[in-house]
Amino acid sequence: MDGGRVVYAVDQKKIVSLRFPTFWFEPTPQGLFMLQVAFGQSKYYSDNLAENIKRGIRQKLRRGEWLNLAPFGYMNDPVKRNIAPHPTEARIVQLAFDEYAKGTHTFLSLGAFLAELGVVSRNGTPLAKASIKRLITNRAYLGFVKHGKEWFDGNFEPLISPALFEAVQKILLARERPRKRKMKHDFPFTGLFRCGECGSMISAQWTTNRHGTKYRYYRCSKKRGRCSQSYIQEKTLAKQLRARLQTISLCDHYTDWMLGKVKEWEHEEVSASHSEIQNLSATIKASEARLEKLVSMYLDGDVTKEIYLRKKDESMRATLALREKLKDLESGRNQWVEPLREWILDTKQADFLVEHEDLHQTKRLVQKIGTNPIVRDKSARFSLSTPFRFVAERRHLLSSSAPSAHRSFSLSDSEVSICGEAGIRTLEGVSPLTH
Ligand SMILES: [Zn+2]
Repeated sequence: MDGGRVVYAVDQKKIVSLRFPTFWFEPTPQGLFMLQVAFGQSKYYSDNLAENIKRGIRQKLRRGEWLNLAPFGYMNDPVKRNIAPHPTEARIVQLAFDEYAKGTHTFLSLGAFLAELGVVSRNGTPLAKASIKRLITNRAYLGFVKHGKEWFDGNFEPLISPALFEAVQKILLARERPRKRKMKHDFPFTGLFRCGECGSMISAQWTTNRHGTKYRYYRCSKKRGRCSQSYIQEKTLAKQLRARLQTISLCDHYTDWMLGKVKEWEHEEVSASHSEIQNLSATIKASEARLEKLVSMYLDGDVTKEIYLRKKDESMRATLALREKLKDLESGRNQWVEPLREWILDTKQADFLVEHEDLHQTKRLVQKIGTNPIVRDKSARFSLSTPFRFVAERRHLLSSSAPSAHRSFSLSDSEVSICGEAGIRTLEGVSPLTH
């Protein structure tokens, strides 16, 4: 019952006297006045209290402090009045993100993975799907603080890099769209090739031969009408892809040397491009300004809370990713290093896949380095993207020379190795590379 109604009841003579431990009232005009003052004051105090609590929370948020019990992976640090990474749990959170980022996990298998690390529910069973999802979408690991439904910049150590977090969200999103999941594991090469005659996708089927052995084959889906193409067996297809990958493969001996060289260059490269850093800083500032504008639009009632929260979340995550990029740039990590390293690793992986049958990885690599993969007349073809054409065209230069750009480089007998059937051998004398 609020004060106004009490005063009204007294006015109507429904209440004739009130007694409180510190205050009493008789129904006289003075008494009524005193009553109004008393209610007014208590309302003032309780309003003030709520206001103080709100102000306290706002101050904590402004300082980036975590507001209540630390989430899994962190512990409350009473000295800093914030949260800090828990010595073992933080590592587990990172492992969970790393694992899920591989793209091979379901909530169930990730739950089993975590259970093996001792992370279980209260009754000892693996974590439920909802808990797993909460874990791998928790923005606290990015260093954000939650208040109500809203996230703020925190002032504690993040556990997960923005890149890893976004990679995990991407997989999560793809998983939540329940489509074409079933065939994936059965037919590694579906969705890769088009028919060279009619342009339809190549699809896959199981079949059993007269000896009762099951095998997989691929054929034109003929969705675009008449087509005279027949089928091709999976193992034939795999063999052809391996032969093609071999033309761009370099054995570990070369790739490891190249990777070492890249690392060297990376270290030498001390000063990152200043203009780039400036540009990025400007982009970040603009993005922060947009966020501020969004907040004032929300406060003015121009956007709904739902839109505001969604936009704010997107904006905060994007800004964080930009800041991370800036950090990379500032620490002198240049943009050419990663693509170069990736190119070397791809040629290394091609070499591996020539020797080891892994059809899913083969498909992924073909998708990555090849363009326009087609099957026609029982043979698979794809064009190479430029960096790999470069390897294919110059690979023969390596067949008799050592992996070195330095003319003085030579190999001892023990270093001479034979790199598989690729024919890259570092035998005989070492001749300098042709420049
Ligand atoms: Zn066709």
